[in-house]
Amino acid sequence: MKKKITRNLIAMMLSFTFAATVIGCGAQEKIATTPAPEEPSEKAVTAETSVAASEETTEESADEVDKYEGSLAGTTLTIGTDVSFVPFEFPDENDVYTGFDMDLISAMSEYLGFDYTLTPMDFTAMLMSVQTNKLDVGIAGITMTDEREEVMDFSNPYYDAGIQILVKEDSTIDSFDDLTDKTLAIKEGTASLSYVEEHYPEAKVVTFATIDEAYLEVQRGAADATVFDAPNMLYFVKTNPDCGCKVVGDLEDACQYGILFPDGSTNKEYFDAALAKFKADGTYDTIYDKWFGTN
Ligand code: GLN
Repeated sequence: MKKKITRNLIAMMLSFTFAATVIGCGAQEKIATTPAPEEPSEKAVTAETSVAASEETTEESADEVDKYEGSLAGTTLTIGTDVSFVPFEFPDENDVYTGFDMDLISAMSEYLGFDYTLTPMDFTAMLMSVQTNKLDVGIAGITMTDEREEVMDFSNPYYDAGIQILVKEDSTIDSFDDLTDKTLAIKEGTASLSYVEEHYPEAKVVTFATIDEAYLEVQRGAADATVFDAPNMLYFVKTNPDCGCKVVGDLEDACQYGILFPDGSTNKEYFDAALAKFKADGTYDTIYDKWFGTN
């Protein structure tokens, strides 16, 4: 809470300073073009616009949100994603990234007007790149955890999830209670890893950069189970009926996914506005239905 208040103050101070400069130089046009976010001064232009905008949108009716349409035109954002996290982001047969998150980003780009470069990378590298400002945005079914929120910013939540267990079809493991002394293949840097380390200190945990490697470990019998995001595991089993695996256990660690920004990013407000717009106008449901069936 404290962090947020301090940050808002700094953003406002920055914006006032820059607003004065802009008016002094007669460079009013710059505000409308909202240039690329890398340079601090350009960030300040966005901050100025965003503070003004947020003051006006205390009540978010669909009409008020609409003023964000095209508001990031002229901006090119660097966006990082995971190499594989079905059905949110994964390469299709032509190696083009597809999935729920990819459709969401594409719709946001169209609505807000920004261009973007998409870089798939290992999950931990993506988190670190956002944290150190090397990326403007991270989207990869990222769980909104307190630890991440301490050092970065999230959009408003856009997806409810939780974790479950994946085991071989003939496994006797059928609940989280059965994991105590087992060998677990877990994806590095994930909320699942934190969960397992906290709840199963006796378990033997082996980590992998991608979830596909962890699944393989279970399939070949080198690990007893993996613990990971339920939507990913359920989609994996559904689309790989011959994988010899099943998903078991009650949903644990209920969580939400958010889009990730470096701490203090001015882009958050625009993405939140786009999310609100998509929930109101049916765009969100269309994307959801495409990947998960009926909402
Ligand atoms: N939701 C999980 C997390 O944020 C995993 C996301 C992923 O592997 N892309 O930790």
